[in-house]
Amino acid sequence: MANENPSGGTGSAQGAHMVSNLRELSHEELADVLGELGAQAFRVKQVEEWLARPEVQSFDAMTNLPKALREALAERYSLSSVAIAATRVSKDGSRKYLVKCASDGTYVECVGLPSSGRLSVCVSTQAGCAMGCAFCATGRSGLSRSLTAREIVDQVGVVRADFGLRVSSVVFMGQGEPFANYDATLAALRILNAPGPKTIGARHLTVSTCGIIPRIRQFSKEPEQFTLAISLHSAVQATRNALMPAVRKYPLTRLHEALQDYAWRTHRRPTYEFAPIEGVNDTTPEVEALVDFCVGTLCHVNLIHLNELEGSPLKPSPAARVRAIQARLERAGVETTIREPRGQDIEAACGQLRQRLEGMGF
Ligand code: SF4
Repeated sequence: MANENPSGGTGSAQGAHMVSNLRELSHEELADVLGELGAQAFRVKQVEEWLARPEVQSFDAMTNLPKALREALAERYSLSSVAIAATRVSKDGSRKYLVKCASDGTYVECVGLPSSGRLSVCVSTQAGCAMGCAFCATGRSGLSRSLTAREIVDQVGVVRADFGLRVSSVVFMGQGEPFANYDATLAALRILNAPGPKTIGARHLTVSTCGIIPRIRQFSKEPEQFTLAISLHSAVQATRNALMPAVRKYPLTRLHEALQDYAWRTHRRPTYEFAPIEGVNDTTPEVEALVDFCVGTLCHVNLIHLNELEGSPLKPSPAARVRAIQARLERAGVETTIREPRGQDIEAACGQLRQRLEGMGF
């Protein structure tokens, strides 16, 4: 997705409201704050216990604090490391957010997608991205910085609060390559999966990677049943090198082995994301290479719609060609889904986030 500034959006927008994040105060600073508000010393421990619980996103949840103290804290502090700076609302009900990090004012994007009373959230793991995929607007702007686990988790919190709905699933498919920020990504997954009223099951937490093999292998050994998606986009090495230059050093043969190993270890089926691009990866040799890559392995292919970027020669394949690719894969026994683009009114020029989100069936 493209990095933006708050004034650049379309659709509805709301102004940023930034206050200090109470979670970022040290023990001493917190004690000073509570002291200044007239709270007794034992309140420090009580507040710290609440702050240690990631699902606590509201001062009202701190039920053992006096109401006046909760209100005083809420007037002065936030519990989130990110705040909504702008919102775009799609005709289909999904909302894309530009959020601002409290620590340094960095902007990232996240998306909320409601469906039949369920809410899926797509989060960014980095501000910008160093991977430079040819079809992605975010890749054009380079990497600003990696996000902290808290900043990743708090994107979920602000979307949840904005919709007022329980979050049923989270996909790590926004800006950035999650496995280039592995520790924070895993910490965020674990916070979201931690027991509590807002816990999200591991199988409903999905990480999408370009194919960083050492991290795929590491991920396959994590004890939780988190879900893995791979941005594949071509099973021909030269094509993939051109589309996704940063993963050139992780060749398809080794990626295939790593994915087989992942499936064997976890008994889980990785998803392959594939955006058919006219004349690039939709030719017969390309499709046959994709079939060869998939046949006999545990996988599901999602054919997603390429978001055209201004000035890019890459165009989405015609619908008939996409259907033909699906038919060929299914004849070979490879389960394949065509994901129709939605929310294009809020996704224009913002890379692949929407398509990849839907590509996971959310
Ligand atoms: S597709 Fe993902 S990994 Fe590639 S440049 Fe865009 S954000 Fe980065």
